[in-house]
Amino acid sequence: MLQDQDRIFTNLYGMHDRTLAGAKKRGHWDGTAGILDKGRDWIVDQMKASGLRGRGGAGFPTGLKWSFMPKESDGRPAYLVVNADESEPGTCKDREIMRHDPHTLIEGCLIASFAMQAHACYIYIRGEYIREREALQRAIDEAYEDGLIGPNACGSGYDFELFLHHGAGAYICGEETALLESLEGRKGMPRMKPPFPAGAGLYGCPTTVNNVESIAVVPTILRRGPEWFASFGRQNNAGTKLFAISGHVNRPCVVEEAMSISFEELIEKHCGGIRGGWDNLKAVIPGGSSVPCVRGEKMRDAVMDFDYLRGELGSGLGTAAVIVMDQSTDIIKAIWRLAKFYKHESCGQCTPCREGTGWMMRVMDRLVRGEAEVEEIDMLFDVTKQVEGHTICALGDAAAWPIQGLIRNFRDEIEDRIKAQKAGRVSAVAAE
Ligand code: NAD
Ligand code: SF4
Repeated sequence: MLQDQDRIFTNLYGMHDRTLAGAKKRGHWDGTAGILDKGRDWIVDQMKASGLRGRGGAGFPTGLKWSFMPKESDGRPAYLVVNADESEPGTCKDREIMRHDPHTLIEGCLIASFAMQAHACYIYIRGEYIREREALQRAIDEAYEDGLIGPNACGSGYDFELFLHHGAGAYICGEETALLESLEGRKGMPRMKPPFPAGAGLYGCPTTVNNVESIAVVPTILRRGPEWFASFGRQNNAGTKLFAISGHVNRPCVVEEAMSISFEELIEKHCGGIRGGWDNLKAVIPGGSSVPCVRGEKMRDAVMDFDYLRGELGSGLGTAAVIVMDQSTDIIKAIWRLAKFYKHESCGQCTPCREGTGWMMRVMDRLVRGEAEVEEIDMLFDVTKQVEGHTICALGDAAAWPIQGLIRNFRDEIEDRIKAQKAGRVSAVAAE
């Protein structure tokens, strides 16, 4: 269990001084030049030893990703791009960091950029995050005025520029290569990978794209040591983590906890339990809308980390946006709503996603009303398999997996609705 003194994002818990002076009182920007002095290899090695896995959803090891950047410059500049385009339904954790602890992120940008020899860093922030943009820009201005960033950042001799760029509302611009296209001034359309951004990223130059939380934890990991960070969570699932818990709990919240905490402890300790008690729990989406839902009874003892949720429950930690649904939820309608979202957000450049999201949504439309044949359930599952793994970016998988989760876990409910409709017992569950 995480003690208060182990929290990285202390500002989330009542210390609401987000100014530079407040950040310094909490230990941020303390000895930053000394950290840079230890050299880029030392920083990358520390990050590898910490076991930090990317907090944007995919869980790719952060230190390893940094090590893909060229050791020697070939004349092209290197860039760090921070993905703050947080748009995954249910996910609102990076928003808290930018609102309350912007200096933690800015200091992380400097250290990470230095480790990759990037003299410029772009933070691409979701367009709707207006207050967060203002808070972050104020903090960036303060850091410039104080000489913490800019020429000779922190007196280290390293020149570092930080730019804030805001998106315009497209979910797909959170996909790292679509984000780079958008930053370059083009329509946000994902690129084929490889090449990965470390080889050819922003303006064709070596680039690392990292999530806000991944970068914001860097200064604390380096100050407290990788062993400290790795002491939380199970092996291969290290660290502390922000969980955004929404839905049918008594007190929804964003909270920092140790990785691998049990679902029951997470909910009891921070959310005051499930609305109506544990018997009232129907389903949970444990990692943002892209991962499959899980039946409530399987979740109670679940270990909240990457390996358990994927390996044991066929779901995922994703962004750790935990969406809790009680027995009052029409789960078919909930997943139909996600199908509609992904159809709307598909950029349309690859056929399985463009056509598949439409097919899936249309079948879901009828399943919500029970106006389908039982055999269509298997046909729908088959369509999800045609989409999964056959697209340029992960949006295709993200559209397929929630429906697969619904069919695997709640097939009985879909069949009951179809039967009830045929028997004239369904009072149209209208799909809006
Ligand atoms: P991915 O697994 O393709 O890549 C993860 C990261 O690792 C990327 O930066 C990628 O460049 C890097 N990488 C992977 N393999 C590599 C290799 N062989 N060599 C070099 N680098 C490599 O996943 P993704 O498409 O970046 O992200 C998908 C996830 O994003 C989903 O699981 C979902 O949870 C999450 N997501 C998050 C949000 C949000 O709001 N935070 C929104 C949508 C989706
Ligand atoms: Fe665009 Fe969908 Fe293809 Fe991604 S999977 S590139 S969103 S069409």
